[in-house]
This record gives sequence, structure tokens and C-alpha cells, in this order.
Amino acid sequence: MFRKELEKLRGQKLLRQINDRASSQGRILKMNNREFINFASNDYLGLASDLRLIRAAKEVLETYGTGAGASRLLGGGTELHEKFEKNAARFKRTEAALLFNSGYAANIGAIPVLAGERDAIFSDELNHASLIDGCRLSKAQTFIYGHADMEHLETLLKKGIKGKKIIITDTVFSMDGDIALIPELAMLCRKHDALLYLDDAHATGVLGNGQGSLRHFGMEPEPWIVQMFTLGKALGSQGAAIAASSDIIEWLINRARSFIYSTTLPAHAIAAAQEAIHIVEHDRTGLNRLWENRDYLVDKLQRSGFDTGRTQTPIIPVLTETVEKALEISRYLLECNIYAPAIRPPTVAESRLRLSVTAAHRESDLEKLITALTETVI
Ligand SMILES: *Cc1c(COP(=O)(O)O)cnc(C)c1O
Repeated sequence: MFRKELEKLRGQKLLRQINDRASSQGRILKMNNREFINFASNDYLGLASDLRLIRAAKEVLETYGTGAGASRLLGGGTELHEKFEKNAARFKRTEAALLFNSGYAANIGAIPVLAGERDAIFSDELNHASLIDGCRLSKAQTFIYGHADMEHLETLLKKGIKGKKIIITDTVFSMDGDIALIPELAMLCRKHDALLYLDDAHATGVLGNGQGSLRHFGMEPEPWIVQMFTLGKALGSQGAAIAASSDIIEWLINRARSFIYSTTLPAHAIAAAQEAIHIVEHDRTGLNRLWENRDYLVDKLQRSGFDTGRTQTPIIPVLTETVEKALEISRYLLECNIYAPAIRPPTVAESRLRLSVTAAHRESDLEKLITALTETVI
């Protein structure tokens, strides 16, 4: 039934493949008996293979075992879950926080219960797929505003909606690496009495001394701001948390289906994330290194004439004119032992190489990448 569709995808060069590795996540990837410098990782601080996280996870693994065995409301959680949530709320400066199994689960669980049938969602056109799916699952009317287009957003906000309004945005856009205009969004929320839902997946551990996008802009959390952040990217573990007012958190505990009907995270994943937050708060070495590497790479790429789009963060697109070109460059980089995948439609409208730079990269890695890229012609 599906073979024809698959052939069509193959013909359009849009067929995707899984490439698994034989090493830990980090600077070097082992794949198919070869080693590659990895420019595809969201492990921005190199914490996924950090010995401090491994030690923290191991200790807890011995006490609590491998699997949580049940959902949170049915005894799956541990004292670590509770402790983590208290600490996550302190980290994000909110009243409360709640763990979810992934960022995807958090977004599709929370959004449909924050906005119901009579409500309206305002969503940036470049929002992450999990936010889009959250909007689709909600019965709210969804208005999509042009990327970072505040005028368009305000026009939509003025449409005379009777119910609740909620503005939803990535804080760091995952394919372009630009930062949402959060102060402007907050101003519109105040003016139009709307909630603000921030997806801090790529900002936590990266922006605002690692605390995320609100701190980056010197803003305080508000009862009408919901912050979702993930534990699987810069925090080197797995899972996600929502930090918000205690009313919102209690509502999620009672209504969010991806929270209620799913086995909770195992304690060792939480112990690792807890250690990561501790490191982010007490040791700036990784964060400083990350930004040094990021600024170095962007500067060199731009000087060499590459179009890096709107990047303001360690996510750096290198835009190409065609799908074929993106694939060709990615293949050439593989020959040079560099892993930097091409991102194609439907994930993005414009094909590109998506580079992500981390604290673990060495200057020689960045040099190799630039040399290899300049050998290709975009
Ligand atoms: C990665 C990502 C998610 C999903 O988080 P997972 O924990 O990987 O499921 C959600 N939102 C954004 C913006 C992301 O980049």
C-alpha cells in the first residue's frame, strides 16, 4: 500500500533514513565503523556523556532500578521526581513545575488543556512540530502569524475573540536559530490579556546564563507565562518540564493526557538532569566555551560568504538553493568525516545544512568544517 508513496519520496530525494551510532552522543560520532565530527547534536554543553551526570544517574539506578513502572498518578514517581520539580521551579523562577516524558509529550499534553473550544491560539508559523500538533489536538481556533511578525499578530489578536487567548512560540527557532521577540510578545499579551506559552527547548542551558529565554531578556516570569523546557538537549538527559503558576501546574496534573496516561521517566534520567541544572548554575566553563565556538564559527562562515540566515544562537543554518545541493554538500562533508545533515521539506521550506555547534567542539573541528565547506560550491 505504501510502496508507491515511498518511491515518490525517493524520486524527490525526500526519503529519510535512520543512522544509528556506536558511541555516546558528543563531539565524535562512530557510525558504520567510521568516526565523524558531529555537527548535528543538541547536546550543547557536552553533558550527555559528562562523568558527573553518569555518576549521578548510576547512583540512582542502583536505588530505584531501571523502569518507573507506572504513571505518576499511580506510583510511578519517586522522591527525586518531586525534588526535581521543586528545583526546576526555582531554576525557572516560577511557583511550580511538572515533569513530562519529552518535550513533544509536554506540548501535545499541555496546549489542548490550556486552550479549549471557545479559545484562540496564536502560533508563529515556524513553531516546532510538537507545538503545531498541540494546537491541532486542542479544539481552539488557531491563528498562524507570520514568523516574528508582531503587526500581523496584533491584527489577529484584535479579531474580537470571546474566550481565552494564548500566544505560542519557540524561544529559539529550531531550524533557523533566531530568538523570538519575547519582550514584544509579552507586551501584546498584557495589552490583549493573553497567556504566553514559551518553548525553551533550545534556550535552556544556552541563553540567559543557561536559565533560558526570559533571563536572556532580563524578564521576570509572570503568572500568565508558561515555560516548557526539555531535558534531552543542553541538559544531557531525557524528558521535559513545564514551569508555571501553581494553578496551571495543578490543572495540568488533572487534565494533561500525556502526563496522566503515560509511564513516567525513570529516576536515573531525572538524576542526570538534576546534575545538569546544578552544573549550568555553578560552572560557566561549558556555556562560555559554547558561545566562543558559536561566534567563531558564524564569523568564519559569514566571511567565507555563506548564507547563515537569521542565526543568533548555536543553531546555524547554511542555506542552499536546492534540495540536491543540500544533500550534495552533506554527502561531501561525510566524505571529509563531518556529520552535518541536510534538512529538507517538509521540515523546512528552504533546504539547508543545519549545523549545531557545542561546547565540546575544538577549534580544529571548526576549521575542518569551514575548509570542507569552502571546497563545496553552494
Ligand atoms: C526538540 C524540541 C521539542 C521536543 O522535545 P523532545 O524532548 O525531544 O521531545 C519541542 N520543541 C522544540 C522547539 C524542540 O526543538
